[in-house]
Amino acid sequence: DVRVRFAPSPTGPLHIGGVRTALYNYLFARKMGGKMLLRIEDTDQNRFVPGAEAYIIEALNWVGIQIDEGQTANGPSGPDAPYRQSERRDIYQREALRLVEEGKAYYAFDTADELDAMRKRLEEANAPAAQYNAITRMQMRNALTMSAADVKARIDGGEPHVIRLKTPRKEEVRLNDIVRGWVNVHSSAIDDKVLLKSDGLPTYHLANVVDDHLMNISHVIRGEEWLPSAPLHVLLYRYLGWEATMPQFAHLPLLLKPEGNGKLSKRDADLGGFPIFPLQWTDPFSGTVARGFREDGYLPEALVNFLSLLGWNPGTEQELFSMNELIEAFDLEKIHKGGARFDIEKARWFNHQYLRQRSNAELAPAVQVQAQAAGLDCSPEKAEQVVALLKERVNFAHDIFPEAHTIFYAPEAYDETIRAAKWNDDARRAVTVFRDALLTYNGPFEADAIKHLLSDTLMQAGIKQGKVMQAMRLALTGSGVGPDLMLTMQIVGKEGVVARLENALD
Ligand code: GLU
Repeated sequence: DVRVRFAPSPTGPLHIGGVRTALYNYLFARKMGGKMLLRIEDTDQNRFVPGAEAYIIEALNWVGIQIDEGQTANGPSGPDAPYRQSERRDIYQREALRLVEEGKAYYAFDTADELDAMRKRLEEANAPAAQYNAITRMQMRNALTMSAADVKARIDGGEPHVIRLKTPRKEEVRLNDIVRGWVNVHSSAIDDKVLLKSDGLPTYHLANVVDDHLMNISHVIRGEEWLPSAPLHVLLYRYLGWEATMPQFAHLPLLLKPEGNGKLSKRDADLGGFPIFPLQWTDPFSGTVARGFREDGYLPEALVNFLSLLGWNPGTEQELFSMNELIEAFDLEKIHKGGARFDIEKARWFNHQYLRQRSNAELAPAVQVQAQAAGLDCSPEKAEQVVALLKERVNFAHDIFPEAHTIFYAPEAYDETIRAAKWNDDARRAVTVFRDALLTYNGPFEADAIKHLLSDTLMQAGIKQGKVMQAMRLALTGSGVGPDLMLTMQIVGKEGVVARLENALD
């Protein structure tokens, strides 16, 4: 059975790369009829941010990623609870102690100063990498260099200690990553990593492997930044006796800046390296309040479509995919190895595509709210008409109202170039006869009717419509270009139109 998990650390707002990871897990789970889990990896007390967990759950929910098992807004849900690692410490302690008993891990008592000194020694000796390993461990203060009685006395006496993995000296560690193919690492390149910290909490590596095993995870789909840890994880599965049921790995390509020059980071806010929506609090690291995709007016379905194609594509020309179509088409085998350029312009394009599919009624409140904030009267009907007129011209719902300026406000000035070229005697006569026609017109004030009235009136006056339309638009809106003029008049209303025409004649 396919079981995948998204395992964020609650250290702040969810970065957009994390959302892509969650999305790919979700698409794969749904495609395979499997389960999607949410596990909260909160064992790093120093980086813990209160509220971040609730935030992550809300962000996933907004994007449309449904969690089958795991931490939810209403607490844990599923057979493997608890799903917060901070509530599972007994489990990790049990497994770490088992490794110690089996001779695969050991206690170490080195202080921070001693570890520093070791690092310095190795650097001075030009050792390839500063490492606590099969050779150097023999010069340090740990259970491999002390007598059993000494070790016991120190632990009983409460001396701070960690448990380290006893990495084998010469062993091949191999894994077949679904995206990267075979990865071979020699164990001499792997540290004796700390598994259990002196505060009794596990490190990421131990907790992650233990939980993936106990939660029967079949596929670990995560960012490429974790690829260097994967051999260590394979070694841990082996030592814990779980290699036969080890999950398959798929490491997703990095998200790059648009020019391809390096990784997109949280600090690249102008390039779109911001989260789904800002946390309610100030980012403790940067001190700034983050921007978010939701606040910037992105529609969740547009963001999902955009993210889905950062590192994967189905090999066809199709670009627009609903969530269900993505699930249908998704294939882990088609994930790219190379980094994916994150182009926020493309995200805007996707938003445009989905905005135009939204109904007028759905988008109308955005216009109403902004109109009211500007002190204007705007009925729901009027807002809907404005949306209908303009939604094809914008990328975001909040851009509709600014675009509707010429509808809400009569012109205060007229485009000088158009005026010089088009405001001639015919134009003035056309505006006059049309105004007069409107004053006696009693029919419905709708685009089609207005169109007929205008063309009949101009024909009777012997004026060629094509020659005066730009001037008519200028009189009504102050500009030579804009959206459908008949609809514009309909929304402005008869009185408004007459007043604008009169103004232009003054
Ligand atoms: N807690 C890790 C993170 O924040 C999870 C990595 C993994 O999926 O193994 O990204």
